[in-house]
Amino acid sequence: MMDQILPFSRNPFKKSFKELPEYNPVMPLVLYNTLNRQKEIFHPISPSEVKLYTCGPTVYDFAHIGNFRTYLFEDILRRWLASKYNVIQVMNITDVDDKTIRRSKEKGIPLHEYTHDYINFFFEDLLSLKIEPAEYYPRATDHIQEMVQIIQDLLEKKIAYQGEDKSIYYDVSKFPEYGKLAHIEVKELKSGARVSHDEYDKEEASDFALWKAWDKEDGNVFWETSLGKGRPGWHIECSAMSMKYLGHHFDIHTGGVDNIFPHHQNEIAQSEAHTGEKFVNYWLHAEHLIVEGKKMSKSLGNFYTVRDILKKGFSPLALRYFYVSSHYRSKLNFTLQGLQGAESSVHRIRDFILRLKSAHGASYPELPEVLNKAYQEFKEGMDDDLNTPRATAAVHESINHLNTPLEEKSISREQAQEVIQFFLHADKILGLNLDEILKESHIPQEIQKLISERESARKNKDYRKADEIRKALQEKHFIIEDTPSGPRVKRIESIS
Ligand code: AMP
Ligand code: ZN
Repeated sequence: MMDQILPFSRNPFKKSFKELPEYNPVMPLVLYNTLNRQKEIFHPISPSEVKLYTCGPTVYDFAHIGNFRTYLFEDILRRWLASKYNVIQVMNITDVDDKTIRRSKEKGIPLHEYTHDYINFFFEDLLSLKIEPAEYYPRATDHIQEMVQIIQDLLEKKIAYQGEDKSIYYDVSKFPEYGKLAHIEVKELKSGARVSHDEYDKEEASDFALWKAWDKEDGNVFWETSLGKGRPGWHIECSAMSMKYLGHHFDIHTGGVDNIFPHHQNEIAQSEAHTGEKFVNYWLHAEHLIVEGKKMSKSLGNFYTVRDILKKGFSPLALRYFYVSSHYRSKLNFTLQGLQGAESSVHRIRDFILRLKSAHGASYPELPEVLNKAYQEFKEGMDDDLNTPRATAAVHESINHLNTPLEEKSISREQAQEVIQFFLHADKILGLNLDEILKESHIPQEIQKLISERESARKNKDYRKADEIRKALQEKHFIIEDTPSGPRVKRIESIS
């Protein structure tokens, strides 16, 4: 049955940790639930399947690397959940809202055409960061009818009302639990005050727009529906799309901390008032990527896109590693030096497994202990609210411990294979392409040194030197290809 839902196996990791002799099934996965402001043991609604909704991009521009911090956290969550359960993930695409309409109008391009390009760019960036695909990527403009139905129901229940401007608003005073997720008191809200734009602060908390009656600012973006001519508010989009694909009540809903209010708070109000059921059990939020103390954002102009980072000569995997090296609930300060450090860590891990590949020494008696500790630490770290710094520390500690015996040829070929297996398991979560590295033929240290020199030359825009090194490599029978995930090197048997 599962195979019908998931066309390909997503659980290669499942076996490895469950088969560990020390695997402790009593030790559960614990996640921090914003709803209750505490870490909680994760119990999925169905024992074998997790339903996960991740708020997706608003496609009015390129996503920046702050946005990708949140998407990467969601990827890590997805990968770790997939080591235990089947995961059904939905990531919506917000292709109609205040920002997309404003921007497409400024550029004089029809909304659909305008967002189309940014949707494609987003998928390209997901691919280069090795973010695993969700099962569904619904677009808001394909689900207008589902939104209208929920709003109709809220009108009938007298939870929504039509304002003088013909837009339809949610009356927050009719939902006693309003404010629970965001920790605000409904009493503090200005009775009858309304906010019609999609984004606003807690100070402005009040009745919010479910359906925005057409006005000339919206140009030719509108739908003729039973609610009149207009378009949906941003918040109803996620209620409609999450419930369509995951049902009225599902396991996990995520986003960045700025989504807590008003977006997620309003989603709860809309969905629960509509269905009368609890909407979501666990709400998880990633802290922001910051620059000099401020949130990375389009409006502050302090952002880089993934493409900017690649143009600077970094590998997308360095960015991936940069994100996982801090815990998702801590603010992460972005600097290019920090990214450089992440790049070095990725190289260290890759070099180590390449060296392991050619190990053929004596047997190392401490190996079982080192490996058991590494597996255990990795797993315990991940189960403790996705503590990726602890999990990556387990990887680096194993390198620290095994470096010298490897150097001194006291690790056997079979043992090296066991260590490689640990790295491959860990990489199902970290996503550093280690399996591909291993597939490549062994690269001698002298060649690796030349490759690093060429990378530095390219980073410094010294393309002449980079070309000279490429030629030198060719003379030594190695060709180099530059790929989005870094240089790939192949040995060639002869050069004509
Ligand atoms: P948006 O496209 O603006 O709706 O944002 C997409 C996702 O990125 C949301 O989950 C936001 O919470 C998240 N986000 C925005 N800025 C940052 C940042 N600086 N750091 C981390 N996540 C962010
Ligand atoms: Zn959303």
